[in-house]
Amino acid sequence: MNKNYLKLQFYSYPRNQAFARDAVAAFCLELNPSLSDLSDVKTAVSEAVTNCTVHAYRDCCGMVEVECEIEDNKLHIKVSDKGAGIADIQKAIQPFYTSLPSDERSGMGFTIMQTFMDEFSVESVRGEGTIVYMSKSFNTEVENA
Ligand code: ATP
Ligand code: MG
Repeated sequence: MNKNYLKLQFYSYPRNQAFARDAVAAFCLELNPSLSDLSDVKTAVSEAVTNCTVHAYRDCCGMVEVECEIEDNKLHIKVSDKGAGIADIQKAIQPFYTSLPSDERSGMGFTIMQTFMDEFSVESVRGEGTIVYMSKSFNTEVENA
């Protein structure tokens, strides 16, 4: 079985978003992803990490953790924070729902994660933090065009 593991921990500064996205993309290169799959993963990670900056640690800064695991042709990603948490997850994952409409947020981050990844789930406790789980399978048989 092909297995690999990566763990990143960083402050929720906006400038670390690109770092996290690109590190995860580099990690999954061994799965020989298509450009489209790579772009999907980068976008999903960006959305999850941005949420930590914008929502979890809105008035402060805190630690964000991104863990990735490769199991055969599948990539698992876990993005966690110890920030504000989400009171109503079902409401939060609805398309166009945002708790910050005044910041001109579109409320599409979770929808994008769900659309671009094969599996998606959220766990959260108000005042304790949030964990986003995502996974995606890569077709390693087909050569990339
Ligand atoms: P967009 O992502 O389009 O800029 P958004 O961030 O508001 O807007 P989502 O990413 O879909 O939209 O998140 C929906 C809502 O879930 C947020 O408005 C926020 O209330 C809550 N939320 C998301 N992630 C977190 C988190 N890590 N900690 C606390 N609340 C969160
Ligand atoms: Mg968002």
